Amino acid sequence: MDFKLAIEDEEFRAEVGEFVESQLPWNWRERAVDAEEPEDAVLVQEFKKKLAERGWLTMAWPEEYGGQAAPHLRQMIFNEEMAYRGVPAGDPGVRMVGPILMLYGTDEQKEYFLPRIAQAEIDWAQGYSEPDSGSDLASLQTRAVEDGDDYVINGSKIWNSAHAGCNWMFMLARTDPDAPKHRGISFLLTEMDAAGITVEKIPMMWDAYRSLVTFEDVRVPKKNLVGEENRGWYVGAALLDFERSGVDRPARAKRVLEDLVEFAKNNRRNGRPISEDPVIRDRLADMAVRIEACRMMCYNVAWMQSEELIPNKEASITKAFGSELMQALYGLGMQIMGLYGQLDPESKWAPLQGRIENAYMRSGGGTVAAGTSEIQRNVIATRGLGLPRG
Ligand SMILES: Cc1cc2nc3c(=O)[nH]c(=O)nc-3n(C[C@H](O)[C@H](O)[C@H](O)COP(=O)(O)OP(=O)(O)OC[C@H]3O[C@@H](n4cnc5c(N)ncnc54)[C@H](O)[C@@H]3O)c2cc1C
Repeated sequence: MDFKLAIEDEEFRAEVGEFVESQLPWNWRERAVDAEEPEDAVLVQEFKKKLAERGWLTMAWPEEYGGQAAPHLRQMIFNEEMAYRGVPAGDPGVRMVGPILMLYGTDEQKEYFLPRIAQAEIDWAQGYSEPDSGSDLASLQTRAVEDGDDYVINGSKIWNSAHAGCNWMFMLARTDPDAPKHRGISFLLTEMDAAGITVEKIPMMWDAYRSLVTFEDVRVPKKNLVGEENRGWYVGAALLDFERSGVDRPARAKRVLEDLVEFAKNNRRNGRPISEDPVIRDRLADMAVRIEACRMMCYNVAWMQSEELIPNKEASITKAFGSELMQALYGLGMQIMGLYGQLDPESKWAPLQGRIENAYMRSGGGTVAAGTSEIQRNVIATRGLGLPRG
């Protein structure tokens, strides 16, 4: 099998790389930015505007909506290059809300939101999970009750990025409490400065925050309902299908592995370079193989999308394998760095500017966010292997 890309694709990859080198407003070799932190969110948004100017932000959108209808592979190369350089350029508006509006939105919604999303003017929070609804999302309790031209919302949404300055939330709310649980849900777009919304920050162990958003009699105009009332479950589930192929994980992992190999070559333990320790060499080599395997899985997902096949179990395999791989990789990094590895980015003694320590803490959430590894395995078992539901 020949995995070589076409010359034009390689040229595009080089162009993206050069653009990042010359335009990125921070040094990606030294600092990891977090698009969900208010300070970094501004920098990331600025950079997205530059991507928008080049048409790269919406390159995969159809031409009728101002995109370039770029092939999935092109989009993947772009995602790979961004992730390799630690640029969180993935935009939920571009990847998920925009395509959903193209499918289910009214003309008015398309006219209002699509150009703003394409220009990186909207920063979205995802309002799916609730304090008592995560894996079993259809059990969500946030209520939206019709009142004149509005819905009135009461309830709460948790673990999202609202604190980072998001100006809109796409959310699921229950519009019919008497219907079977998947059938009484609607998909709404809510402006975050509406009266009655409170955003509380929840500290994470990697020195960052997520949000708990509380809605108290918040009025959302009915024109912000996407798709049919009470059919929002299907809109919300379709949105998840537009999530990325996952190629950002092996791309990020490749860069981390390169950093670790350099570190192992340039640092000594027990009187010799760490890179000469046979156990460390073996584990680094094993990691290189796993990263490449993960990359191929992601390319397979992109290929399926390009053939208009729906990557279902394949996406779950990639998610579970990729997020577990990241945990193992950062765990290995902590082992290689020894006790200094525990210093956080503020310490001048922290190896690799504390990037591994920070990512190690963060990687725990990777097997939970966007569906836990157990849920991914359920999907693989039932939809992939045809096993009966447990
Ligand atoms: C870093 C991070 C970012 C997030 N960002 C967002 C966001 O932006 N917006 C948003 O809406 N949500 C977000 N989430 C929430 C995320 O989607 C949920 O945490 C996730 O779906 C799990 O839900 P839960 O935390 O309620 O755990 P639970 O669903 O209570 O699960 C608890 C444990 O039980 C297991 N379990 C549950 N059901 C089953 C089952 N049927 N079979 C086998 N095992 C099962 C789970 O795997 C898990 O180990 C984020 C979470 C994290 C960690």
